[in-house]
Amino acid sequence: MTTLSLPAFDDVVAAAKRIEGFAHRTPVLTSRTINEELGAQLFFKCENLQRMGAFKFRGAFNALSKFDEGQRRRGVVSFSSGNHAQAVALSARLLGMPATIVMPHDAPAVKVAATKGYGGNVVIYDRYKDDREQIGRELADKHGLTLIPPYDHPDVIAGQGTAAKELFEEVGPLDAFFVPLGGGGLLSGSALSTRALSPDCTLYGIEPETGNDGQQSFRSGKIVHIDTPKTIADGAQTQHLGEHTFPIIRRDVDDVLTASDAELVECMRFFASRMKLVVEPTGCLGLAAARRMGAALKGKRVGVLVSGGNVDIQKFAELVTING
Ligand SMILES: *Cc1c(COP(=O)(O)O)cnc(C)c1O
Repeated sequence: MTTLSLPAFDDVVAAAKRIEGFAHRTPVLTSRTINEELGAQLFFKCENLQRMGAFKFRGAFNALSKFDEGQRRRGVVSFSSGNHAQAVALSARLLGMPATIVMPHDAPAVKVAATKGYGGNVVIYDRYKDDREQIGRELADKHGLTLIPPYDHPDVIAGQGTAAKELFEEVGPLDAFFVPLGGGGLLSGSALSTRALSPDCTLYGIEPETGNDGQQSFRSGKIVHIDTPKTIADGAQTQHLGEHTFPIIRRDVDDVLTASDAELVECMRFFASRMKLVVEPTGCLGLAAARRMGAALKGKRVGVLVSGGNVDIQKFAELVTING
């Protein structure tokens, strides 16, 4: 067995320097309406306003900017349900290297189009039949490409941690912090920043209710694998946590909670109507969990990581008008 090299907060600090001038320092927004609803003070870190529409640009750009000459020349390969694909394609273009992206057949059209628009070479696979990691590895071996997975990589984790670092630098320590959870790159990176900058903050990871492998893993102490869950939160349809993300989550996160698709839709509607923000379903996981927690947050200072805003506008309109 190879020993894992887990990233630390120092790596998040180094990542922040690498992405400076390339990634946006996204705004932290507040809402009087939600503060009154919960009797708490909420701070939304708006990664839906990040370049390419999600935090994933941070991790991808950090990882790709560490490539040596030969790696840059041959290029990068990745597999993703969408946002990581766009992040890798855009980062590769900015750094002047070729990118090949393995994407599921049912990825939102807007995400496939954006990936191609950034110059990415897209290879389609069947989400319910094929093994995307194997396809990615085969392409890497055959063409000498460097594989950058969407979450299970120290440089990706360190890059994702820069969003939480910016949040704490801007608003100071928090009592609670809600972060969406798929494979755990965002949550483990956020955990490194949280423990360094706001050590007493209660940190939660939030998953879709139908795909609570992370919750099962967190509570049982070993990585639990599940079938691809059916949920509108397509950014969190992962089947398991990573070898690198899991130990950090176990060590530094306080609990893993879930949210239902109906709760996510409710939050999409809130963001659109009250805050004028387009947030994709996965990006609503944090707020949905904070709302479910309700009274327990009274009087607290609460961070919510709004992870992304990439959703087909047609799909968005359909979702926010259901029973609306
Ligand atoms: C990828 C993604 C997540 C989950 O991130 P992980 O690092 O896989 O846990 C959450 N929200 C959005 C918008 C994403 O694109």
